[in-house]
Amino acid sequence: DRADIDREVQSVCPFCGVGCQVSLKVKADKVVYVDGVDGPANEGRLCVKGRFGFDYIHHPHRLTRPLIRRDDAPAKGLNVDPGNFSEVFREANWDEAMERAAGGLARLRDEAGGRAVAGFGSAKCTNEEAYLFQKLIRQGFGHNNVDHCTRLCHASSVAALMENVGSGAVTATFNEIEHADVAIMIGCNPIENHPVAATYFKQFAKRGGKLIVMDPRGVGLRRFASHMLQFRPGADVSLLNAIMHVIVEEGLYDSQYIHRFTENWEAEKEHLKTFTPEAVSGICGIEPQEIREVARIFAGAKAGMIFWGMGVSQHIHGTDNSRCLISLALMTGNVGKPGAGLHPLRGQNNVQGASDAGLIPMFLPDYQSVTDDGVRSAFNEIWGAGGYDDAQKGLTVTEIMDAVHAGDIRGMYILGENPAMSDPDVEHAREALARLEHLVVQDIFLTETANYADVILPASAFYEKSGTVTNTNRQVQMGRPAVTPPGEAREDWAITVELAQRLGLDWDYASPADVFAEMKQGMKSLNNISWERLNSEGAVTYPSLSPEDPGQAIVFGDGFPRAEGRAKFTPASVIPPDEAPDANYPMILTTGRQLEHWHTGSMTRRSKVLDTVEPEANCSLHPATLQRLGVEPGGYVRLTTRRGSVTVMARADRAVAEDMVFLPFAYVEAAANVLTNPALDPYGKIPEFKFAAVRVEKA
Ligand code: SF4
Repeated sequence: DRADIDREVQSVCPFCGVGCQVSLKVKADKVVYVDGVDGPANEGRLCVKGRFGFDYIHHPHRLTRPLIRRDDAPAKGLNVDPGNFSEVFREANWDEAMERAAGGLARLRDEAGGRAVAGFGSAKCTNEEAYLFQKLIRQGFGHNNVDHCTRLCHASSVAALMENVGSGAVTATFNEIEHADVAIMIGCNPIENHPVAATYFKQFAKRGGKLIVMDPRGVGLRRFASHMLQFRPGADVSLLNAIMHVIVEEGLYDSQYIHRFTENWEAEKEHLKTFTPEAVSGICGIEPQEIREVARIFAGAKAGMIFWGMGVSQHIHGTDNSRCLISLALMTGNVGKPGAGLHPLRGQNNVQGASDAGLIPMFLPDYQSVTDDGVRSAFNEIWGAGGYDDAQKGLTVTEIMDAVHAGDIRGMYILGENPAMSDPDVEHAREALARLEHLVVQDIFLTETANYADVILPASAFYEKSGTVTNTNRQVQMGRPAVTPPGEAREDWAITVELAQRLGLDWDYASPADVFAEMKQGMKSLNNISWERLNSEGAVTYPSLSPEDPGQAIVFGDGFPRAEGRAKFTPASVIPPDEAPDANYPMILTTGRQLEHWHTGSMTRRSKVLDTVEPEANCSLHPATLQRLGVEPGGYVRLTTRRGSVTVMARADRAVAEDMVFLPFAYVEAAANVLTNPALDPYGKIPEFKFAAVRVEKA
């Protein structure tokens, strides 16, 4: 009975970066159902994950007591049953577990120096928890080797945005599409990955807005699109440069805007000369006429937005892809006005906020560079005494794993991150985890990564704690606890604080509100945004110009946070994918998410409804490819790359090109990242998850 509840609590959905506000209906300390709330990003709407995917928090696999690896445990490996782990781990009380966790990290610090220990935080934790985590590594171990999953997500987009616009966040909320007359969606699949945002995009198309979808897969939004450009994988820079070539050739650019707000235009124009639609058509698989038409529509619009996702960012040329998108927006004057803007759709619910809070190796909070002496001393001042004075950019997620293999990093603290599933060429990461002398994992489940832990600290699910999160729209929102953590599990911020204290740091926070107050001292982005305000209003967009201002949906109308207020054109050349298909590996593997499952599957595969809808690892192939392989839809195929092999059920999907296979990465039994290529974009250090040469055979 829906009326039969004890209380309702308003919080934020823990899954994607849309940041839908939810009302949690609680009975007997259990969430029993969830409704949408009229939040700024969702106006009452929820997708299937937000509405039905909450029950993982009550799953019997939840960690309820700290665990310590047994002295006689088998060798570290992916060999622990999360429902029956007693041969590998023993339960311990908090005091013993914390002593063991902190003691092991401190021993490595004393023996080999602070650089022997690195940290992975999480975009699934709150802003306060992300802030504390990076502070712990920096202050407690004296260096910047701390990162989180943004490295695998939009790191290249942020690199390009910081370089050319001066800020890594979106220039306009996705809701601004309401005022646009054209929108480009490239390398993103919002119907599955940002489903509530997709409802706004569909409405836009329904009322006559021109939706231009570009993707190597025929993603769901094509049904609402005026144009679907299903280009060849890896040909993005060629295609985007050709669109810009047409805009230059036909004089469709916004001279006034370029003159007033940008630099390096002449170099961009010169660079684009050779990218004629005719020259790139064969590379992209798109007719010259279609390229011209799209260029004319975008340049001719009164206001246009550009949205992109991992299809743009997860390439060795991911930064170049984003440079092109930024240039396209700048040359058409599509930044800083209603219905216009650049919007990389953020994946996790707090990937924006965790990055803002400094959980990245090259920046302190608010993207203040670690190489700036003044910035470091300002934070040392805020933090009080401590050992942080590292002017070197730190190692990233995948570089940290390489440093473990090299023997330079011997211990890690991992909070809510699952590199044993999420890293590219994941066997390399698993071997690194097994090599660590001391691994502390803090999580809600015994994840694949926790298999390798020496100490596991049982943490809180999102609906069990207080804290703020920041969505793709720069909206800072208040998460509130609805139920208590199971057993002895504790809120993440409190665990990190105690660990810091046991490592000898003089930390004293009574609540996340105290942490937020400290963050405000070093983060101008939080000006006019107080804990009290978030509690009463639920959400405030940054920047907020006054205590009454709900925040600026659009930024940079009067210039950019760069020298002379000017954004920059950075020409992008074509860099082919790292691995070309050949006779042994003739097809192209691409990976991603699907609607029902979230990232490495630790939460959604423990949700009854979601797991019932999508219970089995699957890949998608064109029906003609299946026929060629002699495989019926629902049959099994073996996918093999230069790194490994998985066997998986095959579905027929006409949206996938005949020489491609799409594999979601949520399934441990057919882990996509066994196959993926670890080659990195040189700027964002993001791996090429979206392109690997693969052999597909009947299993
Ligand atoms: Fe949650 Fe994203 Fe779905 Fe909204 S769209 S309910 S934030 S998963």
